[in-house]
Order: sequence, then C-alpha cells, then structure tokens
Amino acid sequence: MCRQGGTLSFLEDMVKRMTENGLKDMYAGMGIGEEVYEYGRRILGTLEDRFREIDRIAEYNQLKVVRAMQESQVSEACLLGTTGYGYNDLGRDRLEEVYARVFHTEDALVRPQITCGTHALALALMSNLRPGDELLSPVGKPYDTLEEVIGIRPSKGSLAEYGITYRQVELLPDGSFDYEGIRRALHERTRLVTIQRSKGYQTRPTLSVERIGEMISFIKGIRPDVICMVDNCYGEFVETTEPGDVGADMVVGSLIKNPGGGLAPIGGYIAGTRECVENAAFRLTSPGLGKEVGASLGILKDFYQGLFLAPTVTAAALKGAVFAASLYEPLGFDVVPDSRESRHDIIQAVTFGSPEGVIAFCQGIQAAAPVDSHVTPEPWDMPGYDAKVIMAAGAFVSGSSIELSADGPIKPPYAVYFQGGLTWHHACFGILKSLQALKDAGLVAREALGV
Ligand SMILES: *Cc1c(COP(=O)(O)O)cnc(C)c1O
Repeated sequence: MCRQGGTLSFLEDMVKRMTENGLKDMYAGMGIGEEVYEYGRRILGTLEDRFREIDRIAEYNQLKVVRAMQESQVSEACLLGTTGYGYNDLGRDRLEEVYARVFHTEDALVRPQITCGTHALALALMSNLRPGDELLSPVGKPYDTLEEVIGIRPSKGSLAEYGITYRQVELLPDGSFDYEGIRRALHERTRLVTIQRSKGYQTRPTLSVERIGEMISFIKGIRPDVICMVDNCYGEFVETTEPGDVGADMVVGSLIKNPGGGLAPIGGYIAGTRECVENAAFRLTSPGLGKEVGASLGILKDFYQGLFLAPTVTAAALKGAVFAASLYEPLGFDVVPDSRESRHDIIQAVTFGSPEGVIAFCQGIQAAAPVDSHVTPEPWDMPGYDAKVIMAAGAFVSGSSIELSADGPIKPPYAVYFQGGLTWHHACFGILKSLQALKDAGLVAREALGV
C-alpha cells in the first residue's frame, strides 16, 4: 500500500484510538474503572513473551489432536450416537482410539458413564488392584476425594475394605522426591503407584511431565512390573508432552476439565496399556462385557469437538492464570505459581490474608460469568470441609472448572484457587473484575495501582 503524507497514518491513528477508547468504554460499562483498566493494560504489556510461548504449545497440541483424528479416520458417522447396549458404537470406539493416539498409550476408555474425575481414578485403582496388593503414593497426600476411595478416611466401598493397603512417601521439604524413602516403601506387595501431576489444594509445586518421567523411571528401575498411574487432572495440554510419553501405564482425568474443551457435559478418561484399560472396562461395565457395551447416546459430537478445542481452551485458561499472578504479585499478594515460573497445570493460587479478600475475589469472578452473574456467592459449610468455603462459578456445564471459576476456604492463610476460562478475553475480564471488587472493598489502594 502506498502511504501519502501523514493523512493515512493520521486516520490509522484515529481508528486505533477509537478502538482503544471503545474498549475502555466497554469495560467501563461492565464495571471496570479506569484505574483497574489502565493497571491491567500495563501488566498485560509485560506478558507478550509468556503468551507467545503458551500459543506455541497450543499450536503444537492442536496439530497433535487433529493428526490423531485424521489418523483414526474420524468420519461424520462417528459423531452419531447409539442407545441401549451400545454394541458396535463406531464413534465411541474411534474416540477411544483418538485418545490413545493423543496420550501415546495402547488404548483408552473414554465414557460418559464415568461420572467425574474421582470416579475415573477410583475405577482405574479398583480395577487394577486385588486384595492383598498395596498402593503407593510417592508424592505425598493425594487429592482430597481420593482419601475416601483409598480409605485413608474410612468410607464404604473403599480399597481398604477390600484388603488393599496404602502407603505414602512425603516429598522432601524442598519439594524434591525422597528417593531413599520410596525405595524403602516399594516391596513385593506394591502393585500400583499413583502420581498426582497437579498440586490440587496443596502448596507443593505441580509436577512437570519431565519430573513424572524421572519418578516412573526410578520406580520401574526397581520394580518394572509395578503399574504407574498418573492423575492428570488440570494438566492436559499444558505442555507438549503427556505422562504417556514418559512411561505411565495409566493416565487418568476428567472431561469437565481440560480435555473436554468446555463442551463435554460429563465424562472421564483412562488412557493406558491394553491390560490396564481392559481391567478398567470390565469393572466399569461387567466382567465379560468390557468395552463392548456402553451407549454413547448423543454425546460424541461434544466429546470430539471438545477435544479438538481443548488445546486452545487450555491456553486461554493458562493465560488467565499467568495474568492473575502478574496482576496480584506487584500488589503484595502471595501468588503460587509466581508470575515467572513455568506452568504445569492451569491452577493459580492467590493469598489475600483476610476473609474479605477471598470473598471479594470470588464475588468479582462470579460477576464476570456468562451464566448466573447476578447471584452473589457467600461462604457456606460445605460437606467434607472443616471451614466455610466460598465458590464462584457461572458455568455452562455445572461444576466445570475449565470454565472461569474460583474457590477459597475461609481460613488462614485465606487463599483462593482460581482456574479456567474458555476464552482468554473472558478470563481477562474475570480477573479485572476480581481486582475491581477488591478495590471497591477497600482492599487494594488506589496508589498501589500506580495511577
Ligand atoms: C479435580 C481433580 C480430581 C477429581 O475430579 P472430580 O471431577 O472433581 O471428581 C482429582 N485429582 C485432581 C488433581 C483434580 O484436580
């Protein structure tokens, strides 16, 4: 294009300014004041390199998913569903093949009959352990809901009731693996090792796929026959590799987190060796039936399309987490991970040090939701928790935590756990809204925003 004098650049400038002002006005109309807006823009300006890296991973993973779908020859007929017994469900069987390709495992079980992440993990454990076996967690305490599955907290139907024992080796104080302790804990009854990738509600760092690989090599070096299972919840597509690439025998997760891409309305997956997956299938349906039954009803299109979108949705959530860390860290709040650390899951913890901070943050997130933005979340006595908990979620899929969501127990150190965002722009809005809520509550000084 030929530029003549200053006219065109003047016009370009004007359009740019109008767009910028239009955006600011739009945010103002949505309750974001100028100070929070300008502060947010300034922080955002520092994140270009981080975001480019996140996009590069998403690009790689997008190709990985498309390639798996192409190699499995996904066709229009695969998007239809079956009813009743669900024999010869082409789309279901093909989807499981796609998952196996994406996670680099021999086989996979991907079903709407797996009701959630806890169910998928319980299924993987209960189907691959037998009375007399021992389960080992070499990375400290597992996710809260697994305590009842294992029987750490006595519960009906737990592994403990079936005579399966459990042992746990804590991480060392600096977060590294206690190799000596693990060596001592492995014995002839140890049948399965469970490794949780995400930190969950703990303060330990999330494990990278590389570190998971080191752990698996160490264990297999001593006991090659032990099954290594990875709880992959919140970790899918955050890196270019998955635990299946580093020797995991089972990789397990929930479809209302990362791999469902926000579209899957239910479901879980177990990707792994042929034998582990077969065991899980016989337990999910029935001995003798296994993978052959289980109608997919009308759900497959959302499973396929959700998986297709999952790399970019995960990237959006990751950008939100990095933005939140970068926004709150300079204001003096403790953030885990910090604004510079590499990421291995989509969870961001921010410590506010007061109940009011936790409440304001969650109310801000709720106010940004596409669904139920008009309701105000309050702390309540949730079953199974020893303190009141406040939760913010205005999701299309109930309880989906790949959608913008936050929750925090009302107890010291008064931290919130924030995750999700189906699009980066929505995550951005939600985080600005949380900061605005903190500012309106008088918990962030105007001067701290530097405007
Ligand atoms: C969410 C989660 C689970 C349990 O999944 P649900 O779908 O809530 O039952 C297990 N482990 C980790 C690390 C999780 O993040």
